[in-house]
Amino acid sequence: MPRETIAHKKERACEIERRMGEHYGTGQCSLDFRSPYELVCAVLLSAQTTDASVNIVTPELFRRYPTPADLASAHVEDVEKIIHRLGFYHAKAKHLIEMAQGLLTKFGGEVPNDIDKLQELPGVGRKTANCVMADAFHNAQGIAVDTHVFRIVHRLRLAGPSANTPDKTEKQILRLFPEDTWNDVNHHLVQFGRDYCSARAPKCSECFISDLCPWTGRDIAKK
Ligand code: SF4
Repeated sequence: MPRETIAHKKERACEIERRMGEHYGTGQCSLDFRSPYELVCAVLLSAQTTDASVNIVTPELFRRYPTPADLASAHVEDVEKIIHRLGFYHAKAKHLIEMAQGLLTKFGGEVPNDIDKLQELPGVGRKTANCVMADAFHNAQGIAVDTHVFRIVHRLRLAGPSANTPDKTEKQILRLFPEDTWNDVNHHLVQFGRDYCSARAPKCSECFISDLCPWTGRDIAKK
């Protein structure tokens, strides 16, 4: 593919997102939550596991610990028992309690509607903060780059080889997508990664953006 101008890349990105919107409708968070506090917990639990598995454990977690104050004073073994079906549950239980303690000591028990302050909480990085800003506060400040988003935007060459971390990748793609699409872009790409552009077996022949993808038709064995 010849070197692409930023203007052309933006056009391609917008067309990709337009088709995603046509295909999937408005992007939806697949984690169940009723408050910013519950969403922070759910996103922390979702690392290295499926949202469906998280949704199985969170009703009991939120029933036992309905507020940050309840979770902050929880015993780690009790939290572990509730979330033990998830990978890394020892670390996740510890992070949940530390996050709740951070909410109490730093922010009076309220989840801040501020992407920088969110990242002051133990265990909360840029990806989690982006999810909370977009889905709990409807105030998207960026595009959460998880494993699906990272893989797909690199295959699509919307991010270049120098963007070798999620943060660098996010910086590059934020220039391409209009701000009012950021939340949808994240949800659409995650769903698209599950449905079409998986890591091991992308369905390029069925893909509705294959004409916009430089990766199409390459032999996956050579990747
Ligand atoms: S053509 Fe293949 S690699 Fe490109 S976006 Fe579609 S599924 Fe992914």
